Order: sequence, then structure tokens, then C-alpha cells
Amino acid sequence: MLIAYEEFARRADALRAQIAAACTAAGRDPATVELLAVTKTHPAGAVDHAARYGLRGVGENRVQEGVEKRAQIAASSASVRWELIGHLQSNKAKLAARHFHRVQSVDSAKLLTHLDRAAAETGKTLPVLLQINAGDDPAKFGADLAAAPALLETALAQKNLRVDGLMTIAPLGATPGETAAHAERTFANLRTLRDDLAARFGSPLRELSMGMTGDLTIAIAAGSTMVRVGTALFGVR
Ligand SMILES: *Cc1c(COP(=O)(O)O)cnc(C)c1O
Repeated sequence: MLIAYEEFARRADALRAQIAAACTAAGRDPATVELLAVTKTHPAGAVDHAARYGLRGVGENRVQEGVEKRAQIAASSASVRWELIGHLQSNKAKLAARHFHRVQSVDSAKLLTHLDRAAAETGKTLPVLLQINAGDDPAKFGADLAAAPALLETALAQKNLRVDGLMTIAPLGATPGETAAHAERTFANLRTLRDDLAARFGSPLRELSMGMTGDLTIAIAAGSTMVRVGTALFGVR
């Protein structure tokens, strides 16, 4: 069940206050952290809530679900940006390139070449993030830290893609303390990797998409420019 808009707005207000406090603590300008509403598993009305509140983008983790939802949103939500944050198979690259404004989950050279071809066919430049398994989680998708330079080199060679930055998901721990420690290590790794790659390849890689409901404060301290939040906005899935 989708929550009412008023309840959504209260939660979004609280979240923005939390983001602002985390920015202040880190000596950062709150305007440098975007809140991406993760609408996966929720109906199209969730996208309408986000748009009405003034959020720029929504995150979906399945191509098909996003495509169906996009056909159902209100006309007033048409300017919302759709970001794919879940694992993408190469055979769905064409559909993803056509219906999403950015793909955050690019983790292989094969997927890069498929997305580049798909973007060429749609006649547009497709922005992407490289998903890095910066926490060495065996259960997570994403390129290994060691494979990141070669993946970036391949990405920068694609004529129809624009590499905006990096994305990661921190592994869960057995306890809240362990989860927090994993998050700190994972986000610090991604930040260090970004700084190294930016210097080495002369590409700004401005976007650091890291932090979700449970670890966004830690992510902002480490330099996140985009937190992807579902549960705190829409409730448990
Ligand atoms: C579901 C999901 C999120 C949102 O997680 P919450 O804990 O509900 O905030 C963020 N990023 C990715 C990649 C996800 O799949």
C-alpha cells in the first residue's frame, strides 16, 4: 500500500533535515547531495509523490518494472529522471537505454559495449555510473576495485556514453556496529578510488552514488553526492 502524499512529505522533510545535518557535520553544502527516491516495488503513485515534492529523480532496480511504471505516472511527473540502480543484463541494454536517463549499475565491459550500441541507436548520449563492489561483498554485483581502472578505460572509449562517476552498495554486517564499519570502509574505498581514477584519467567522475536508508550519514561523511533512499520515504518493502 502506498502512503498518502502528506505522510510522504513529512518523511521527505525529515530525510532532508538528516541530510543537511550530515552535511553540516562534514563541512559540506547540502546542495551537493541529491536525494534519489527509490520507488522499486511501489506503484507509479510513488513516483508522483516524489515529483510533486520536487525531487529530481527516481531509482528503479528492474528495467521492465521501470518501463511499466513510467507509462502510468501522472502527466505532471513527466520531467522526473529515471535512474536504473539494479543489475542489468546485456540483453536488456536496449530497453534500458531507451527508457532510463542514466544507468548506475554498469559493471562489465560487455555491458558497456551493449549500452553504447543501444545509445547510438536511440541517437543520444547515455550517462552511466560504474558500479564498484567497493566492500568486497561476495553477494553483490559490481566490478572489483582492482578491475575498476580497466573498466573505466573501456567506458571512456565508448562514443555514446558519458561516465558521470561511481556507485556502490555496502555489505550488511551481523550487527549494527559491524554494518556501520562495513559502510565506512566501503564508502572510503569508493571515494579513494574515485580520487585516484579522476587524477589518472583526467575525468572528474563527479558523482559518488552511495548511501541508502541505513547508512546515508556515513556515506555523506565520505563524500556521497547522491543517496538512494527507499525505505525511509515509502516504508518497508
Ligand atoms: C533498494 C535499493 C536502495 C534503497 O534501499 P533502502 O534501504 O530501502 O533505502 C538503494 N540502492 C539500491 C541499489 C537498491 O537496490
